[in-house]
Amino acid sequence: MEVCHYEERSLPDYRLCIHRGFATIQYANLDYYKAEAMHNLWERALDLVFPPRCAGCGARGSLLCPACMAAIPSIQPPTCPQCGRRTTRSDICPVCRAYPNALDGMVAATEFGKPVRECIHALKYEGQRRYADILAEMARPALTRLPTPEAIVPVPLFSRREMGRGFNQSVLIAHHLAGRALLVVPGWLARTRDTPPQVGQNREARHANVAGAFSCPDPAAVRGQRILLLDDVATTGATLDACARALRAAGVASVHALVVAKA
Ligand SMILES: [Zn+2]
Ligand SMILES: [Zn+2]
Repeated sequence: MEVCHYEERSLPDYRLCIHRGFATIQYANLDYYKAEAMHNLWERALDLVFPPRCAGCGARGSLLCPACMAAIPSIQPPTCPQCGRRTTRSDICPVCRAYPNALDGMVAATEFGKPVRECIHALKYEGQRRYADILAEMARPALTRLPTPEAIVPVPLFSRREMGRGFNQSVLIAHHLAGRALLVVPGWLARTRDTPPQVGQNREARHANVAGAFSCPDPAAVRGQRILLLDDVATTGATLDACARALRAAGVASVHALVVAKA
């Protein structure tokens, strides 16, 4: 069995995009490791001309400097087992009691504050894919607080949005987190419709926005599996809840969620 594979899609083999002032080539149709190896080679060449800067404070020399790394606002127990927010006791928080989600449990590794927010922005909006590795390392300690999954399923983007960005940040983070020890299967969950951005919306609007937006293209593959959903940021958890509902409908044994940051 292949340990990790990238979702097969009909995309062009490569595209040109502007990154750090240069035209770069993004390979879309090669498998994940080949694409990342080529991208990293190009990034290292660019480093010689433009030394990397810390996403948190702008200091030259690294993607995240030691001072900013020490300031990562990690979330330690006690937390709500259902949504990952900080609590005073490790029991279900009042919000989850009022609005139970479809997850078996959730852990958030950090708060969505400096420098985590800046690292996520660099990855998503500046196309700096090397931040996926840094974000995966931020998430790794939290992984041990969840049962060992059989597979990691990154939260999918709608196809048009993924093609526009050139990658799905959660897929990249999932591959770094999994290494060759865990199966990463982006194809087990699909986003069946585009949804407007959730920013600035209240809980009810967020849930209505994503309700029914996900499906399992191959229910037979996921049936009976212990799944770990992975996303970069969660606010109310509406997206993870909608994903968990689709996976449950397909008959998974369990579905937990890990997010890098809780907003
Ligand atoms: Zn810094
Ligand atoms: Zn909660």
